[in-house]
Amino acid sequence: MAWQGILGVDEIALQFARANRRRRLGGSFLFVGPAGVGKRSFAFALAKTLLCSRHFLQSGDAALESDAAPDPVAELERFQPCGECENCKQFEWSVDPNSPPLPTHPDFHYVCKPADKSLLPLEALIGDKDARMRSGLCFELNQTAFMGGRKIAVVDDADFFNLEGANALLKTLEEPPPNTIIFLIGTSAAKQLPTIRSRCQTFRFNSLSNDALAAILLRQGKVETQEEADAVARLSAGSLEEAEKALDAKFSEFQQTLFSELARRPIRGVEFAVKLCEFVDAAGKEAVLRRRRLQNVFKESIAFFRAAFLALEEPAKIPQGKYAPFVRRIVENGGTASRDMLDCVDLTLDAMEKVDRNVNLPYVAEAWAYDLAAISR
Ligand SMILES: [Zn+2]
Repeated sequence: MAWQGILGVDEIALQFARANRRRRLGGSFLFVGPAGVGKRSFAFALAKTLLCSRHFLQSGDAALESDAAPDPVAELERFQPCGECENCKQFEWSVDPNSPPLPTHPDFHYVCKPADKSLLPLEALIGDKDARMRSGLCFELNQTAFMGGRKIAVVDDADFFNLEGANALLKTLEEPPPNTIIFLIGTSAAKQLPTIRSRCQTFRFNSLSNDALAAILLRQGKVETQEEADAVARLSAGSLEEAEKALDAKFSEFQQTLFSELARRPIRGVEFAVKLCEFVDAAGKEAVLRRRRLQNVFKESIAFFRAAFLALEEPAKIPQGKYAPFVRRIVENGGTASRDMLDCVDLTLDAMEKVDRNVNLPYVAEAWAYDLAAISR
């Protein structure tokens, strides 16, 4: 089955269902896995289920504990919000046309990295300078639950904690206030600060299978036919985010241009900058679309430089996949040190950060192209 319609999470949902029935649910969890495989949807569905009064079992409740353990299917079928209690009725979805829907419930809290920032803002965790420790997530979680049940927090973009932010959250993670559950969402355990990782129970989310991804694309109306869904799924390495890129047909076309420019020795700074700026401009009038397109170029480039780095370190092991022919070109041309690729990653991360800070896009794109050209000489 697909628990609450989310593919590929049954095993994890089962662990939560069992732990909750036995009243052994911990308080701090870390979900890691590639972007676009359903971690956030799962955290929201869990939040709704665990907030539901039917699943909020306190130590005095005889409740479900006395039941014999149900089989997995029955366990998952039972682990659903009832839809009728006050908590379920309070759980709704925000309807801001500019952002994806978020749950609203007086005891649900959500923190993420704003699109124009490169880190999770400290204020969101412990309040701004004027109200330090008197607002923000850590403060909210220390208050009594409005509905008298659980409090649940989802901290998205956990890859982007700075040390100060992480430190602010540590105490809350270590000893969550009573009946409080915190879900952190990141892309890999390695990207989490060790202090955070060690305080959370980690669940890994795998890439979606091609069939699962194709089913999602069809269900969301992103493609019209099964053939199209299968084709996009095959290109997307199990990630919905990759699938969305592949569906931006212009982007997949440009990938070839991008990789072949990046594989040139030396890179032709001026020509590359012109092509890049044209491509970014073609995303449309809205700045947010142009910004997203340039950020996608940067993300792809970082993946490319990492693949090239690995290949230069171990030329016998050129990775398969879309980068392979271009990476091979760099290795075979010679004259490029693996260290250069790390410099390229650094330059690209800097450029991404500039886009986050709203620096003029053509300026960022051109400067990046010229800097790469300089390294490649
Ligand atoms: Zn309910």
